[in-house]
Amino acid sequence: MPELPEVESVRRGLVRRRLRGVAVARVRSSGKPLRLARPQPLAALRRATHGHRFLDVRRLGKYLLLELDGRWSVLVHLGMSGNLVTAKRADPWAPHTHVVFELADGRDLRFVDPRRFGMVDVVERGRERAHPSLAVLGPDPIAEGLPPDHLATAAASRATPVKQFILDQAVLAGVGNIYASEALWLARIAPTRPARRLGADGAAALTVAIHDVLEFAIDNGGTTLRDFVGADGVPGDNGEYLLVYGRAGEPCPRCGTAIKKAMQAGRATYWCPTCQAR
Ligand code: ZN
Repeated sequence: MPELPEVESVRRGLVRRRLRGVAVARVRSSGKPLRLARPQPLAALRRATHGHRFLDVRRLGKYLLLELDGRWSVLVHLGMSGNLVTAKRADPWAPHTHVVFELADGRDLRFVDPRRFGMVDVVERGRERAHPSLAVLGPDPIAEGLPPDHLATAAASRATPVKQFILDQAVLAGVGNIYASEALWLARIAPTRPARRLGADGAAALTVAIHDVLEFAIDNGGTTLRDFVGADGVPGDNGEYLLVYGRAGEPCPRCGTAIKKAMQAGRATYWCPTCQAR
């Protein structure tokens, strides 16, 4: 499942593809529904995009916003396996291509999603947070930044373990399982500590750690997971830079203690029992 840095890598890849100023001429579909989508939005997609030019590609959590110069933007979630790629019109559709924006410059922007857990929808520009998928999201730590007291305030009454707390998309948009472990290690906080026991210092350290872990991952192109690749087809290489995730039994990069692994709410958690003693 792509996390925030992987989606950001796709966004940057699309920006490099110079979509800005290019108009959508036509929208085509495989006819197969995407599992997250509301009832087939193809007619709405056509109305929203035909003849309109791309202004920018933004990201909110794990959602991409393809902004157009009309009333509507296109909202994309990559789901488990989705990707947005550009191709020449004449290139055959890759297997599992489900939505194709034919562009006025002769290229296509194609949504490819083998498992079809993704989403392509329209969203009103300037009122993005009114869309049901975005209304429930907390602030994006990179695209919007976290107010300094956000985590401390949100954690104040929460007995849930801090790892699950920062995975809650209503608290933070886009932090997933890998970067939750990484950020907690960086901030020296045990993943099982109840969120309400974070304290002002813990919340401040975690705010910085989340930002730094995500920025570092973005700089390294995201983490390669299964068949995930960036929009330009280059796999991210952040996997080798992960400090604790996936490294059970290996020495902690800070103190040398063997990294531990446990399941928390069904998800693997990695931590250093010495650095993150409480
Ligand atoms: Zn350690």
